[in-house]
Amino acid sequence: MTSLGSLPLRDDLRGRSPYGAPVIDVPVRLNVNENAFDVPADVTAALQERIAAISATLNRYPDREFTELRTLLAGYLNSVLHREGGAPDAQALASPSIEPDMIWAANGSNEVLFHILQAYAGPGRSALGFGPSYSMHPLIAQSTGAEWIEVPRGADFSITVDQAVEAVRTHSPDVVFVCTPNNPTGNSTPLDVIEAVYDATDGIVIVDEAYAEFAGPDFRTALNLLPGRPRLIVSRTMSKAFAFAGARLGYAAAAPELVDGLRLVRMPYHLSSLTQAAAEAALAHPDSLLAGVEELSHQRDRMVSGLRGYGFDVVASDANFVLFRGVADPTLLWTRLVEKGILVRDVGIAGSLRVNAGTDGETTAFLAALDEILSTHP
Ligand code: PMP
Repeated sequence: MTSLGSLPLRDDLRGRSPYGAPVIDVPVRLNVNENAFDVPADVTAALQERIAAISATLNRYPDREFTELRTLLAGYLNSVLHREGGAPDAQALASPSIEPDMIWAANGSNEVLFHILQAYAGPGRSALGFGPSYSMHPLIAQSTGAEWIEVPRGADFSITVDQAVEAVRTHSPDVVFVCTPNNPTGNSTPLDVIEAVYDATDGIVIVDEAYAEFAGPDFRTALNLLPGRPRLIVSRTMSKAFAFAGARLGYAAAAPELVDGLRLVRMPYHLSSLTQAAAEAALAHPDSLLAGVEELSHQRDRMVSGLRGYGFDVVASDANFVLFRGVADPTLLWTRLVEKGILVRDVGIAGSLRVNAGTDGETTAFLAALDEILSTHP
């Protein structure tokens, strides 16, 4: 039998492990930061209509520039900026600050990040992140041949201006990642840290805002920082708040010139007609799509107080998941929860587990299972 080791695999890929959240078929899955709610009925109806309308034209390649989708995504981001009241200047309310030519999209924000790293990192270059953070950032950077540099966050998982500036000056990376709200810890990074990182580097700064819609009122999006910062890119996704993970649609906003660089590395027609049609149909109903966000934030807060009630140290979360620390044996607790039909995530941080906000019933099931486990095995 052939083993992978005997094949002429790239030397820098030897010994690496692929991304692999365990997939177990249990009733309550709270492990991969999905949205717990089904796609709302008005969205599924619009989606079916659009797909039916284009299905006969699938003999043709899709719109390579996904023009309509970019316009809708720009419109959504402008509504975010205006709602936040943090528009970069007084004019922004009158004239949108995110134009369609500032938008990029791909099959999930993972692919958006891959395009950025392919264009702006690659062999002989480096990318830096503040860990613990999203496990795909190093994998994506390294898959382009770039070196990965991980700088530790503080004990409370924050990043300070001084620490960030020092890290960037010391390592001179070509790309810097700031994940906010951060996966897997849930905490956010203030804009002054991102501004300081930007000023300290000549490289590209990626702000991964996959969970931004779940954040509390103090959160400020880095979209506010785009004007005048041509090396900044803010990525988002329809996989989380929009309950659209299966459709695979991630996107980003940046200066048009930065976006032009991404065209050099994407495959022609990378967004299928089906993907574009589904995302466009969904984006025509943003309020329905985002309807679950408030409820999930409420369920997250229930998780936080429930877990604190059991004596765990819970990181304040701006996302749809919480990290709880003070777990004596994470592998054992993880296994006991699986035995009770509940899947959470061991993210490899000592003494901790991560759990997603579920529906009301799922959150109740998780807290009840925990209660049973802790009272039987205190
Ligand atoms: N960024 C972060 C921080 C994430 O946690 C995830 C998914 N877990 C992604 C990006 C990628 O999501 P998707 O490819 O579904 O957009």
